[in-house]
Amino acid sequence: MPEFPDVRVIMPAGALGPVEDEPFLDHMLRRLAISTSKDPNQEWAEKYGTDFENETFMINTACYCDKNDCPWGIVCSCPQSAFHYFADGIEVTFDEWMAFFDREIGPEPKSGDRKAWKIYLRLGTEINKRRTERHDPVCDFCSTGGIAATKGGGAGQNAPNFWYKPTDFKVWWYKYIGRDMQKNRRIRRTTLERIFADCFVSLGK
Ligand SMILES: [Zn+2]
Ligand SMILES: [Zn+2]
Repeated sequence: MPEFPDVRVIMPAGALGPVEDEPFLDHMLRRLAISTSKDPNQEWAEKYGTDFENETFMINTACYCDKNDCPWGIVCSCPQSAFHYFADGIEVTFDEWMAFFDREIGPEPKSGDRKAWKIYLRLGTEINKRRTERHDPVCDFCSTGGIAATKGGGAGQNAPNFWYKPTDFKVWWYKYIGRDMQKNRRIRRTTLERIFADCFVSLGK
């Protein structure tokens, strides 16, 4: 078993730039999910999305199965040898890399000593600049996206939860629509309106 398969980076909201009209995007994704879901319980689709794809778009619920045949759930399976750690430019083991920080920063200040804490935290930032890591893309997911690339994902990136194929506009969410939503580019409200109009047209609606 590789050592680091379960590291999943959840990007904070807005890490790829703000969604310009998030309430509208949110609302339309929910409408599209309801329209394409076969589940009579529409509350489920409205909250989590649904799994549907045609030539114009794809919508898919988030998946955390960690399976390498799932475009949404695939995770890194690089061997431990793909991860490299450096302290002051010299390659060290992971344990040495952790110990380097502890050794350089020294003991924590007393809890109420705000001035000492300020210095301590600044020192931590400086030490972290001397500590780097490198992850070589070795596994299929990290190098090409593997199965994720077949559904709009890419190297180290899972398939999106919404994919408008004509212009390659993509949206990811965390567990349910609207949560920590990320997209692959900035987009105007008017463009979003056209995208969703086209999606509904493709459904014959
Ligand atoms: Zn899955
Ligand atoms: Zn990997």
